Amino acid sequence: MRAGFAGSREAGVGEASLADKAGRADDAAGSEGETQVAALGAGAAGLDWQYAPAPESREIVSIAPEYGLFVDGEFGPAGSGQTFATVNPATEEQLSQVAEAGAADVDRAVAAARLAYEKVWSPMPGPERAKYLYRIARILAERSREFAVLESIDNGKPIKETRDVDIPLAAAHFFYYAGWADKLDYAGFGPAPRPLGVAGQVIPWNFPLLMAAWKLAPALAAGNTCVLKPAETTPLSALLLAQVCQQAELPPGVVNVLTGAGETGAALVGHPGIDKVAFTGSTEVGIAISKAVAGTGKKLTLELGGKAANVVFDDAPIDQAIEGIVNGIFFNQGHVCCAGSRLLVQESVAEHVVERLQRRLTTLRLGDPLDKNTDIGAINSRQQLDKITELSAAGEAEGAHRWSPPCELPGRGYWFAPTVFTGVSQSHRIAREEIFGPVLSVLTFRTPDEAVTKANNTPYGLSAGVWTEKGSRILWMAQKMRAGVVWANTYNRFDPASPFGGYRESGYGREGGRHGLGAYLDV
Ligand code: NDP
Repeated sequence: MRAGFAGSREAGVGEASLADKAGRADDAAGSEGETQVAALGAGAAGLDWQYAPAPESREIVSIAPEYGLFVDGEFGPAGSGQTFATVNPATEEQLSQVAEAGAADVDRAVAAARLAYEKVWSPMPGPERAKYLYRIARILAERSREFAVLESIDNGKPIKETRDVDIPLAAAHFFYYAGWADKLDYAGFGPAPRPLGVAGQVIPWNFPLLMAAWKLAPALAAGNTCVLKPAETTPLSALLLAQVCQQAELPPGVVNVLTGAGETGAALVGHPGIDKVAFTGSTEVGIAISKAVAGTGKKLTLELGGKAANVVFDDAPIDQAIEGIVNGIFFNQGHVCCAGSRLLVQESVAEHVVERLQRRLTTLRLGDPLDKNTDIGAINSRQQLDKITELSAAGEAEGAHRWSPPCELPGRGYWFAPTVFTGVSQSHRIAREEIFGPVLSVLTFRTPDEAVTKANNTPYGLSAGVWTEKGSRILWMAQKMRAGVVWANTYNRFDPASPFGGYRESGYGREGGRHGLGAYLDV
């Protein structure tokens, strides 16, 4: 049994890893590739080729038993005194009690942000603002291990993802936008572009720190002040970021963090003192917010759900495509708005691709998020696990064929085995609805036109992938597929300089790059 799972049953994470099970399945099956595994084992005279546990230490993080709201540069309790628990989804252990902001707290935070906007932040010369952003970026980089461990514990995602993706990218966003703060006059928005004022920002639980960075960095660089509402299930990294703001001596009120549930978010976006609303989350809540904001004059950007097609042609480099498919849907347990959740594969290679994919999936390791070998961590919440379970059951009931690698799940916490559905038709719910979990639906096509038609057969329009060796086909597909981002021969690639966003039911507005800056300027 691995460290970090005291209390999980004996046949727990260590024994349950997909790779371990795969080894056993391989011995029994004996196909060509599998023989290689068996031969290696035999040649090594009974050596055990399993990974030893490699747990990251929790010591670097100290989690307080209680956290207050961060308003006007200080932490304090909610006016109502109410709190809620945040838990580790891998163990169901309660981590801390966090203040629940109500309407009076929203008032206080918006007033602090307004004062800071008028008196300090917007009059401050750009090069001075930049210094604070650089400072935050540097502190994030210096404290990256602490952030990575905390994010894994509160969210359930594997440490290798928080360490290599979430935290470095969050720091990179602050570095990138720090560089714009003194160059706004030359950003192509005309001379002396004005900030919007106070931004109300509501973010989800799938990339807690990274989404905070996506929202805060451009807003601050442009001269706005912010009130940020992190998701109820993942408040801790935003609160640590608030401590970083203190450490960077950011003037009080420039960044405020209000923890709470959906009502807190609704109170924030509906507050008359807010000039700009930025939201990332479900399409359902995005629609409610756009209704609440309509007619108020507030600027709005929405980054909502997706049901992306990852299209594999028969001339694609299959090895890379398999990695791209895995990265597209199993990265971050599939809790990714742009996840490649619909695999469209050309019929002539479909069987081969699915076989290779299944083989690859048997090598993924599911378990302790703090183990550096772990590929698939915990599902973020019971509620999300229920949703994934329900939609997967619907896939089976509607006639698709369900497959998962042999895999025992840990006894405690929220877990879901990587799952592939074949025989999926376009009318199935698993082909239409955002599952937001490690579940892939495989569909086939015969011609490029059919691929485009099927890829576009969704109300969403956030992202897509295309795998082919022909550059002309990549350009043709990128033109035809109705998605804000199209990746070619890769998937889930992000850079602070590159704009990201969708249209139709995936929302509107762009985050990242110069476009992301424009979303916080009066242009
Ligand atoms: P939500 O859209 O409900 O949550 C996103 C954020 O909005 C959270 O901070 C949430 O608070 C807050 N919120 C909830 N209701 C309101 C409201 N009426 N006004 C303002 N803010 C509000 O997503 P869920 O976490 O409930 O996830 C549900 C589904 O949404 C998932 O299964 C997934 O399909 C999709 N989703 C998509 C994301 C994306 O990036 N595209 C991200 C997250 C979810 P609180 O956390 O307290 O609920």
